[in-house]
Amino acid sequence: MNSHRRDHLGTDRSEPLPVLIIGNGPSGICLSYLLSGYTPYVRPDAVHPHPLLQRKLAEAPGVSLLDQDLDYLSEGLEGRCQSPVALLFDALLRPDTDFGGNMESVLTWKHQKERAIPHMVLGRNLPGGAWHSIEGSMVTLSQGQWMGLPDLQVKEWIRRKRRGLRNSRATAGDIAHYYRDYVTKKDLGRNFVSGAVVTAVEWGTPESGGSGGREPSPLFQVSGFVTTEDQSRRPFSLCARNVVLATGTSDSPARLGVPGEALPFVHYELAALEAAVRAGAVTPASGPVLIVGAGLSAADAVLYARHCNIPVIHTFRRPVDDPGLVFNQLPKMLYPEYHKVHQMMREQSILSPSPYEGYLSLPEHRLLLFKADRQAVFQDRDGLQKVFGVALVLVLIGSHPDLSFLPGAGADLAMDPDQPLSAKRNPIDVDPFTYQSTRQEGLYAVGPLAGDNFVRFVQGGALAVASSLLRKEARKPP
Ligand SMILES: Cc1cc2nc3c(=O)[nH]c(=O)nc-3n(C[C@H](O)[C@H](O)[C@H](O)COP(=O)(O)OP(=O)(O)OC[C@H]3O[C@@H](n4cnc5c(N)ncnc54)[C@H](O)[C@@H]3O)c2cc1C
Repeated sequence: MNSHRRDHLGTDRSEPLPVLIIGNGPSGICLSYLLSGYTPYVRPDAVHPHPLLQRKLAEAPGVSLLDQDLDYLSEGLEGRCQSPVALLFDALLRPDTDFGGNMESVLTWKHQKERAIPHMVLGRNLPGGAWHSIEGSMVTLSQGQWMGLPDLQVKEWIRRKRRGLRNSRATAGDIAHYYRDYVTKKDLGRNFVSGAVVTAVEWGTPESGGSGGREPSPLFQVSGFVTTEDQSRRPFSLCARNVVLATGTSDSPARLGVPGEALPFVHYELAALEAAVRAGAVTPASGPVLIVGAGLSAADAVLYARHCNIPVIHTFRRPVDDPGLVFNQLPKMLYPEYHKVHQMMREQSILSPSPYEGYLSLPEHRLLLFKADRQAVFQDRDGLQKVFGVALVLVLIGSHPDLSFLPGAGADLAMDPDQPLSAKRNPIDVDPFTYQSTRQEGLYAVGPLAGDNFVRFVQGGALAVASSLLRKEARKPP
């Protein structure tokens, strides 16, 4: 990977790069695959179980999906995602999965190198994005087969590694490994630069003309630094005709906004607890770990601490039976470990003390402040203040996209520019069939940034971008 760093970032380019992808998670990897000339066609012998979709697919036999009208094909599809193209690509890759089936994809892939568009994928970590920051032993929420990228089934990959799925789910560590392997197996490595952090993207006036009758498009200047082998930082600056934002939403953890939050014992990643356990800074005999939040990351932290016999205080603002809590939406049979945490939240609460040791939940409590002597001050629903001594604090209340490298931190690109950018409530406003920003030509956004929150659905965004870029580059076969 290091030689690629030098080759890619050290060369003076006279020509701008056609495409620069920022972020090397599942979205960036899937897009790199499609831009490398891997072209999806519907298998001539395949019959899709959705009759309307099957009829439409049969209208254009032998035409690559990238060259078809994605708007037309996806019309009328329904599922667990808002994006029509995400639903379409998912339906073609996993035709009957939402009905419990295991039907093979109706797509076949041809490697047509002449259709490849030169591109580069920059990422802070190794290829796999957020999956390299998620605790490796954590079991995915999604079924293992939904974590896979095109033309390499997770199940098959896991079988070859002589590993297994747990209750049809994979561990985060296996998934991170799968994404890295995917880049190697599909020979995409030369497009990837790991350890590269983008700190600024600027664009100017449209470049005039260009050959082949292309529309004038703006030029993007992308700069940042790459961490070299000796851990020094080397700056880089690249010019690109199109930029794809695939930076996810995990880099900027949400804060409580209370006094004392910057104290050194307050952390925002499960990795901090793991490090403290390894270093012996928290032990079964130490003070409790305070875990703040009622989502799955907080539940993972509770499970990890309990596994290490570390005492836990678990605090959250909502009532335990609030229908908005994720635990109240997950089927108990499929997620026994999260059900167990939910049960503890309910039964081992300060509101109904129980004989269990080592775990105490504080539902409907608000944190007021942290003190330097490791005291956490809370207020309960009746306005009563309570103080607990803690060994370490883990705040796991979600995260925000970090687009600080864009002009105005990307605020103008959101659906509602007056509200903070948010994957769930206010994503980047993109055209649903190209994923190009509605505000800036040549700028694309995929994955949670564009409102697609699961790996199975981020791939539709990549398909839409690839299709749009192929049209722009006029690379369709004659
Ligand atoms: C704890 C947890 C559990 C999850 N469980 C599931 C699950 O079970 N199933 C599921 O489908 N989804 C799950 N998700 C969501 C899933 O991780 C995302 O949907 C998916 O990873 C999004 O892919 P992405 O490529 O768009 O972004 P990411 O995977 O977030 O990758 C983006 C990468 O870009 C990098 N980056 C950001 N800014 C820059 C910059 N300026 N310069 C260079 N690089 C940058 C980031 O560091 C990151 O590595 C989970 C997420 C978390 C946090």
